[in-house]
Amino acid sequence: MKRLLLCIPNQSVHYRGMNARPQVSIPLGILSIVAFLRENGWAGDVRVYDARLSASFTTTQEKGGRVTLFGDDEATMGKRIAEIAPDVIGISNMFSAQFPQALRMAEVAKQACPNAVVVMGGPHVSVFPEETLEQPCVDYVVVGEGEERMLALLRCLEAGETPAIPGVLGRPEDRRLLRDHPLVKVNFIKEVDDLPLPAYDMVDVERYFELQANGFSPRTREWGQRAVTMITSRGCPHRCTFCSIHATMGYRWRAHSPDYIRRHIALLRERYAIDFIHFEDDNLTHDSERYDRLLNILLELLPRLPWDTPNGVRGDGWTLERVRRTRESGCQYLAVAIESAVQNVLDKVVRKRLDLAQVDNLMVFTHQEGLRLMAFYVVGLPGERLEDIDATFRYALARYFRFGVWPGMNLAVALPGTELGRIVERDGLRDPSLPYAANQLTTSEFSPADIQKRFRRFQRLKILIFLWRSLTSWRDLRYNASLVWRYRSSIANEFRKAFGM
Ligand code: SF4
Repeated sequence: MKRLLLCIPNQSVHYRGMNARPQVSIPLGILSIVAFLRENGWAGDVRVYDARLSASFTTTQEKGGRVTLFGDDEATMGKRIAEIAPDVIGISNMFSAQFPQALRMAEVAKQACPNAVVVMGGPHVSVFPEETLEQPCVDYVVVGEGEERMLALLRCLEAGETPAIPGVLGRPEDRRLLRDHPLVKVNFIKEVDDLPLPAYDMVDVERYFELQANGFSPRTREWGQRAVTMITSRGCPHRCTFCSIHATMGYRWRAHSPDYIRRHIALLRERYAIDFIHFEDDNLTHDSERYDRLLNILLELLPRLPWDTPNGVRGDGWTLERVRRTRESGCQYLAVAIESAVQNVLDKVVRKRLDLAQVDNLMVFTHQEGLRLMAFYVVGLPGERLEDIDATFRYALARYFRFGVWPGMNLAVALPGTELGRIVERDGLRDPSLPYAANQLTTSEFSPADIQKRFRRFQRLKILIFLWRSLTSWRDLRYNASLVWRYRSSIANEFRKAFGM
């Protein structure tokens, strides 16, 4: 029987003049694979190695400039992998911007254990399976969801057979095992309830709690001391042009049953005493009736468990009653994904199929119910005019001023595997030699400098509204003071950027 090591690479947090926040959370995808292997009787030895958990920083000088890494350095990673001596090494890569680190870890793994089989999975490699396979340190690429494919691959390797598994590439000719679709190359698990609960016992959950509560959470607002991410559904039928989930989760929305969610929450509460849930589904509120049933589960919990939706939910389908039950069930704030204040941009550029009038209803309802609302916007998409972008900035500030809807303004990122990425590449709107980052697009309407200038002005006005709201509302003052204290260093950074200090 083989020994399998599943790895999460260290993170690059400063490279070529760009900064990224170190982020650590329990690796749910990997823990779901482990649980699936166990449930299906795979009797090999499984280990998990998360190179981020040391939370150390290493700075090196490379050709492109200074690089700072978060987590174990290469020597430590190589030593850890060699000590475990696995037969198969799986490396997870969640974000395209971190793909070079995942690849570096694959090289380190191959050097440490030359006879081991190295497998890569995750969103980036699901979009570029063939290119990833060209790397000499990578033996197999798993596209899409990993549970069933990893089990099938391990069984083939143990039997000494050449794998021929849809969605698993080991040789260039395996491309025939992929679907002929530009974004979605594989099929997806139909019944997500057939998956066992993630194997939390495989990791040091306390260490994740500690790092998250001390500034390394991926969420911009981390209120819990023992917070977990939970995913109650996979996939999304919508086709927003910038969205990258379809290559890994598909267009078909598949939800866990109330019974499954109840068991999951009970496990986390009883075994790990969790005090907060971040629901990070791709589309948590796609089915309003199912969302109501989720609220029923949360309303049953005594004492209540605080929760939020940091990925954002749809802005349609809300009623006053639904918002009230959301608040009563423990929701601390809702994040809603609006994207643009211009209906035409929403329809033709973002292609979100969202009616702005319904979003306004949600703002009124949450204001009435005293439930905090945060809104995500994105500007700088090809097809937008400068006046559209200005309208979104104005809308975001006006809704913050009037209803207290905190504006989370994003500058467009053309990720690979998205319709936006395809348009940008086709029209040559971005320098392809740059690592993926926000605000790199130049169109006939705007340049990154135009967007940056407007964004700075927006940030300054946002800070002024923040101060005004704090001084005129006792409730906002208390909330904002705790926010400032908790996020003092990142707020100071934002302040410096906004005022050019
Ligand atoms: S952005 Fe949200 S609604 Fe749009 S496709 Fe992605 S998950 Fe679906």
